[in-house]
Amino acid sequence: MPADNLASLLATATARLKAAGSDTPTLDARLLLQAATALTREDLILGPDLRLTPEQQSVFEGLLARREHHEPVSRILGSREFYGRDFKVTSATLDPRPDTETIIDAALKVMPQGARLLDLGTGTGAIAITLLAERPDASGMATDLSPEALAVAGENATRLGVADRLTLREGNWFAPVTGTFDIILSNPPYIPAGDIAGLDPDVRNFDPALALSGGSDGLDPYRVIASGADARLGEGGHVLVEIGAGQAGDVEAIFAARGFSASGLHRDLGGHTRCLGFNRAEK
Ligand code: GLN
Repeated sequence: MPADNLASLLATATARLKAAGSDTPTLDARLLLQAATALTREDLILGPDLRLTPEQQSVFEGLLARREHHEPVSRILGSREFYGRDFKVTSATLDPRPDTETIIDAALKVMPQGARLLDLGTGTGAIAITLLAERPDASGMATDLSPEALAVAGENATRLGVADRLTLREGNWFAPVTGTFDIILSNPPYIPAGDIAGLDPDVRNFDPALALSGGSDGLDPYRVIASGADARLGEGGHVLVEIGAGQAGDVEAIFAARGFSASGLHRDLGGHTRCLGFNRAEK
């Protein structure tokens, strides 16, 4: 039996992924087909009648089956684009989300010349590395509790050419941090522990639990960050944190109790409040 051509393979794959619950079945099918064949997007458009080799067909089938079991495409491919750059992603790191680009835009607006930044719970390093890549005059430190995640951040920093300006430290929040910074950032785990079982399987089964759970009410990391920020923030410095749905009021109260006032509220493309900025309150 002759192999199916690309166009019909893509149509079948898209229908299968849609049936399996993917929100983006057409895109997923195309990215997996490209990964299985090393064909570019242009090749797919220009060559709908191309046929796969039997080896390519079986690789593609394997990738499709993984996606049907809810493994995100970024994890299958081992990389994810964030703010226009490719980041290595592994089972030890949170998969950086487009929503997190909100904190990048917010930070770029307040970073002074020669900024020193601190990224707490860096995961893939997406936040720190993106900011250092965008601002060649900046330098900084990034921490993570997970040595495996920190190794991934190190690889990403090297690949994206910022390793000489980024110090990576293993440890819990501020524990391994020395020095002071112009900007302290974090996209901490903020899901209430009891909500994790109800998350989408793409998230629940593939993002590391350590990167998701924010304790019983989801706010524990903000308490730690708010209590430690004053000692590590330079004069006129800013704190920027990503937050979950409905957390703005609680997070503002946590920071207010530690002497910080809100300096900005930043929405993601979906219109949700996604990032809060804080300064030291006037005495
Ligand atoms: N800071 C990393 C990111 O935004 C990891 C966040 C996390 O693990 N919660 O991708």
